[in-house]
Amino acid sequence: MQVWIASLFAAGLGALGWTLLEYVLHRFVFHGASATRLGAKEHRKHHAKVDYFAPWWQKALAALATTGVLLPLAIVATGVTPGLCFSAGFVGMYLLYEVLHRRAHTRPPTGPYGRWRRRNHFAHHFVDPRRGQGVTTPFWDRVFSTRLPVARVPVPRRLAMPWLVDADGEIWPAYADDYELVGSARSDDRTRRADTEAAMANQSPDPGTGAADR
Ligand SMILES: [Zn+2]
Ligand SMILES: [Zn+2]
Repeated sequence: MQVWIASLFAAGLGALGWTLLEYVLHRFVFHGASATRLGAKEHRKHHAKVDYFAPWWQKALAALATTGVLLPLAIVATGVTPGLCFSAGFVGMYLLYEVLHRRAHTRPPTGPYGRWRRRNHFAHHFVDPRRGQGVTTPFWDRVFSTRLPVARVPVPRRLAMPWLVDADGEIWPAYADDYELVGSARSDDRTRRADTEAAMANQSPDPGTGAADR
């Protein structure tokens, strides 16, 4: 096989390898039995407060540590060039995941993939945190039967993504087919405590009592 084809194949395999780890970590560690396990607490804090993301230095450290283990193993197993390409594909896909996840929360969708990614991820946040674990791809949710098809994603008003709502807190018409606002916009100590408790227990947030106490 030509070297560049083998390199491309190795990089693709590395990227696919990351998507599997993304699924496994998200399902079994971040939403696993223990809320205190490394990564689980930070991730559930993100569920409780959707604009909270674990600090970049923690992610960079995790990426460095993974590369430190993966790279020598891949080189020993497959040789220098394929090992390097596999590791580059793996770590590159991880970095892409970080960017895509953050952008799903902070920026509106611009195409069919962005639309799918957001619908799937916010169904995971607001309908059932134990399903819809894939952030970059639906592939592993299909393989392991954890898909979360939701016709219209209910978004608690107080947790609405900034791109979803206008200055009055109402949903932009362009997104009304995919999302609906539910519950109260009120955010105080009580709701924050309830959101944290729900997130730590792998439950979706209680939307609250609705428009009456907005
Ligand atoms: Zn998220
Ligand atoms: Zn999650």
